[in-house]
Amino acid sequence: AVGALLPVVGAGTLVPLATGGSTTYANLDNAASAPALVAVAERVAQVLPHYASVHRGAGWLSRVSTALFEQAREGVGAFVGARPDDLVVLTRSTTDALDLLSRAVPAGGRVLVADVEHHANLLPWQRSARTTVVPGGVDAEETTTRLEAELATGRYALLTVAGASNVTGEVLPLRRLACAAHDAGTRIAVDGAQLLPHRRVDVGRDGVDYLALSGHKLYAPFGSGALVGRRDWLDVAEPYLAGGGATLDVRHDDVRWATGSDRHEAGSPNVVGAVALAQACTTLAALAPGALEEHEGALRARLVDGLETLTGVEVVRPRPRDAVGVVTCTVPGRSVSEVAAYLSAEHGIGVRDGRFCAHRFADALGLADGGLRISTGVGTTGAEVDRLLDALRRLVTSGPELRYGVVDGRWAP
Ligand code: PMP
Repeated sequence: AVGALLPVVGAGTLVPLATGGSTTYANLDNAASAPALVAVAERVAQVLPHYASVHRGAGWLSRVSTALFEQAREGVGAFVGARPDDLVVLTRSTTDALDLLSRAVPAGGRVLVADVEHHANLLPWQRSARTTVVPGGVDAEETTTRLEAELATGRYALLTVAGASNVTGEVLPLRRLACAAHDAGTRIAVDGAQLLPHRRVDVGRDGVDYLALSGHKLYAPFGSGALVGRRDWLDVAEPYLAGGGATLDVRHDDVRWATGSDRHEAGSPNVVGAVALAQACTTLAALAPGALEEHEGALRARLVDGLETLTGVEVVRPRPRDAVGVVTCTVPGRSVSEVAAYLSAEHGIGVRDGRFCAHRFADALGLADGGLRISTGVGTTGAEVDRLLDALRRLVTSGPELRYGVVDGRWAP
């Protein structure tokens, strides 16, 4: 039996069923947002009673908070192998980090991106005329080959890619892409939102110039994230946010902006969020080498093998060469939102349906009407995967009438 790898909050929560009674909630939607680790919740409970604004006050609390905030920055940097001259800019999310980076590319620098990216790593770039959006493929090999061919033109300042897909879970060959980029004089940015909860990344070792990440995908709550990477562009870029803390000196007709992470972190920062994110990094880093991959590999195999025995369920690209615990399927003849509502209302199972903020990729995969995404995390057990398989088996074998109507455009009991 596969048990949870780490304790997470909310495990064992009872949820009501539309059919009467209740059951323990099976959260198979970790790719959207993962539950906080128990270690994170405990750390937050420790720091919550004692915080004050950072970088400003001389009071004891303010100094404690400043130290906690800066230690958190160091912890996040250490988790991803930040180099001595890298900045760790603490942001609200991956979306925030990538938007920041999109405004920091030196003037005239061209950007290369594939259209199969999550919108967070497509739209910030697509709005610039200096971006080339190439058609991606249905798998990592196809997309990588197309990016390599385009990189070879030597026209690009930056290539930006997701480390792992939030639709198929497939992992991109980052070192290969980093080599191709660097050979062409191009830097590489990685959207680590889906990769980091599953795999360790070391920006130095892997040749990643910029890495974006989100706390809420990494077992810490919402509102924390980071952009880690080369300092030179960030030190001279227009400040991402204009406001207090980002300046050295403000005159009537002139502003001297700070350099370093301060430059892009105007306003009172999310100290508790940063501490939570850093604690998640510490706890994940303390796992035995390979333990995370083993846990997720076992769950993914169980899920994919099980789904493939169900006639009436089609798995989208079930066996990529390398993938994390994110699997998308369809139930031909049924709407995916109806199936997701059935899983929730009759079985207490949470999954995601739709096009996953990656519309171009969904279209390329034949998911114009959406897919059903099942995603595992460190808190997922084999029993939860079995419950999902059982629920889908019932649906496709006995074909119950689904008793759900549309409320606000969504299926609901
Ligand atoms: N990139 C990928 C691959 C994602 O899956 C997500 C979240 N769905 C994001 C970026 C955006 O993350 P956030 O919403 O935390 O900014």
